[in-house]
Amino acid sequence: MRAWQANIRTVTPYVPGEQPKGEHLVKLNTNENPYPPSPFVKNAMDEMDYDKFRKYPDPASAVLTKALCEYYRMEEDEIFVGVGSDDVIAMSFLTFFNSQKPVLFPEVSYSFYKVWAELFRIPYETPALDENFLIHTEDYYRENGGIIFPNPNAPTGVFMPLSEVEDIIAHNQDSVVIVDEAYIDFGGESAAGLIKKYENLLVVQTFSKSRSMAGMRIGYAMGNKDLIRALNDVKYSYNSYTMNMPSQILGAEAVKDDSYFKETIEKIITTREKAKKRLSELGFTFPDSMANFIFASHREKKAEDIYLALREKQIFVRYFKQPGLDNHLRITIGTDEEMEKLYDFLEKFLSS
Ligand SMILES: *Cc1c(COP(=O)(O)O)cnc(C)c1O
Repeated sequence: MRAWQANIRTVTPYVPGEQPKGEHLVKLNTNENPYPPSPFVKNAMDEMDYDKFRKYPDPASAVLTKALCEYYRMEEDEIFVGVGSDDVIAMSFLTFFNSQKPVLFPEVSYSFYKVWAELFRIPYETPALDENFLIHTEDYYRENGGIIFPNPNAPTGVFMPLSEVEDIIAHNQDSVVIVDEAYIDFGGESAAGLIKKYENLLVVQTFSKSRSMAGMRIGYAMGNKDLIRALNDVKYSYNSYTMNMPSQILGAEAVKDDSYFKETIEKIITTREKAKKRLSELGFTFPDSMANFIFASHREKKAEDIYLALREKQIFVRYFKQPGLDNHLRITIGTDEEMEKLYDFLEKFLSS
């Protein structure tokens, strides 16, 4: 081994869902929104002046921050924007989790948390969920160097009532508590209303799911101004121009079109509730989901076999080959038409 090899930072990276290419495939594997972004986004894109790309973007992403502040009724020093919530959360690990004590997050949750903890050398512990995939708040009463959990949780879709979220925050006022609300718009209740009450709370959301803009990479954090200032200090010490100009402009446009936002969310929720009924009839069981996906296992057939058979038919769902998760499929809610293709195939496959 060469001497320099001992100095390489080695990590096991997060593995994102695959992005298969093709015309007729049904893509239900990465929790993307099946509907296009708001027409406001298209109009702004058509009017965008490419000559502006000569210049650096606004390092503070002011147009986007302002649009979000107006929407959520927050002050401009209470919102931080980043390149997807992955960027915002990675920056938050770097900024807030600097204790010798372990950071806590659920054993079954967003698998990126463990990767960031390892990348940044942050000690962590992962309390188990119960047999119904529920988080027990008492598991978060112990000493820690910070807490993060998704709500609704991923990949289970289970929503924790706000009273329990508050219970965790209230018991941990010496730590920063991050609530990752990637799926909150699909029927849950956001913890953002608790920010005025708890200065240790950071709420993170994204444009990737409910706002149909995964490709634009926009995420944001809302919290007390001292937390937001600390995040900005770290960001400006790392890369001043994280967010590109089109994302700033188009993100702001998306936020302004609230009726389109609500309309597409309603459609997805309606399709999800139908999916719960159809999948149960097909012999699947799942925890009740408040997200844009369902985490289902079949009473008889193995998840991996269903996953592979679907894949063969160009229907992509997410399968995690991990102990405890490997008999489940995470099925993103698509359009009604896409879901019908899924049910049609499952009906045939499961009765064969
Ligand atoms: C999708 C997702 C994210 C990351 O989303 P971005 O595309 O980076 O904004 C973060 N947390 C959870 C739980 C997610 O499912």
